[in-house]
Amino acid sequence: MPIQEKNFWLDTANTPPVQSAVDLPHAVDVAIVGGGFCGLSAARPLAKRGVNVAVLEAETFGWGASCRNGGMVLTGMKLPTATLFKRYGREAVRKMYATTIESIDLVEQIVREENIDCNFSRCGHLEVACKQSHFDGFADSAALVEREFNHKLRIIPKNELGTEIGSDIYFGGMVDEASAGVNPARYVAGLARAAQRAGACLHDHTRVEKIEAELQNGVRKFRVRTSRGAITAREVMLASGAYTTEATPALRKKIIPIGSYIIATETLPAGLARELSPRNRMIYDSKHFLYYYRLTPDNRMLFGGRAAFFPETENTVRQSAEILRRGMVTVYPQLRDTKVEYVWGGTLDFTLDVMPHAGKIDDFYFAAGFAGHGVAAATWFGAKLAGLLCGEAGDNPFTAIPFPSAPIGLRSGHTWALPLAGLWYRVLDIFT
Ligand SMILES: Cc1cc2nc3c(=O)[nH]c(=O)nc-3n(C[C@H](O)[C@H](O)[C@H](O)COP(=O)(O)OP(=O)(O)OC[C@H]3O[C@@H](n4cnc5c(N)ncnc54)[C@H](O)[C@@H]3O)c2cc1C
Repeated sequence: MPIQEKNFWLDTANTPPVQSAVDLPHAVDVAIVGGGFCGLSAARPLAKRGVNVAVLEAETFGWGASCRNGGMVLTGMKLPTATLFKRYGREAVRKMYATTIESIDLVEQIVREENIDCNFSRCGHLEVACKQSHFDGFADSAALVEREFNHKLRIIPKNELGTEIGSDIYFGGMVDEASAGVNPARYVAGLARAAQRAGACLHDHTRVEKIEAELQNGVRKFRVRTSRGAITAREVMLASGAYTTEATPALRKKIIPIGSYIIATETLPAGLARELSPRNRMIYDSKHFLYYYRLTPDNRMLFGGRAAFFPETENTVRQSAEILRRGMVTVYPQLRDTKVEYVWGGTLDFTLDVMPHAGKIDDFYFAAGFAGHGVAAATWFGAKLAGLLCGEAGDNPFTAIPFPSAPIGLRSGHTWALPLAGLWYRVLDIFT
């Protein structure tokens, strides 16, 4: 019998649902579209500063990528440093890299300040090399990162890799001790409650359908029409990630929605769990079409990957379970007979230049493009946008970079070209 879609994090979040405000207010200072890490991380400091803020979420808080991810709180950016230097220059990239370290500190600080019970742990991450040439590149990357960003990465040669991972298919690894792990569903629920305690109004099952600018007594405001009525806002912030809809077309045409899928096994005996991941790292491999995996707090192997280049559907989720199980057994033959108990999927918000972006679009504040780094990045960008909304001087190096539109076939809602893009990355994995 095929396994049914079920999200391990949601199943074990063990947190009471966030109590949403019943009636929509008539008017607010700031309306935030989207109740994931980004929107909630903005709402919390805004409300703490006395700003009247409403978070409008089409489904439930955290329903999007924020409760579907691997819970890896990662340093670094998706693109190689050399590519980034060429594109944006050394000074800008130094600032960008520093934000990725700062963003993990911010998650840790929020978890501590708000007393969020979400298994946050500074367990570090391990990148494993799928080819000798990838491992050779690790040493250059580590040297560059140390020289340019004053951040230390540790190279693990193949003959020492057994101290990090119970698999012998890799050519070596690279460890960053600054990264962390979290239960994302507990974290996002904790963020929502913290925002609410600070005074933000949270409205779930409230889909934003249209936003129009209008003049009220000579002042520009926004009329935000939702599935539960309209609300007037002085400013609007878009935090809708990969799930951005036609209600905000200017942002939607910049987002490339890419599906990613995760399985989780039954609980493993403690000895086996230790053998598979002796230091309990957040692990991912060096391919374009990569696998990412980790132990859960209750010792299951959580194994993700297979970017289907489609937003997730019930069908793609089910098909992914068997494909991912085979991938997991390739990495860990020890799990050949282990039962898979969970499978789920979600959609990542990629952009054409594979960078996060923030600032203003169509007069709305926005942040998006976190791809596989959004646990930390969306938290950081949300908090920074809150500062910007309150008139703080901008110190976000990502607001200054150009934000290219996605070609039509890769945009949200136009997914015919996504499988072709997927094929391209598979070809790259063979030849690079
Ligand atoms: C399978 C998977 C694994 C991942 N693994 C990792 C990982 O290990 N580490 C990591 O750092 N990142 C990971 N990510 C990425 C990370 O989860 C995201 O980058 C992050 O959650 C984005 O947060 P967000 O708040 O911007 O968007 P989301 O959490 O997607 O929230 C957007 C919300 O906006 C709402 N919305 C959209 N349109 C409207 C509208 N018109 N009206 C009202 N509401 C609307 C949606 O319902 C949604 O809830 C993963 C993502 C996926 C899918």
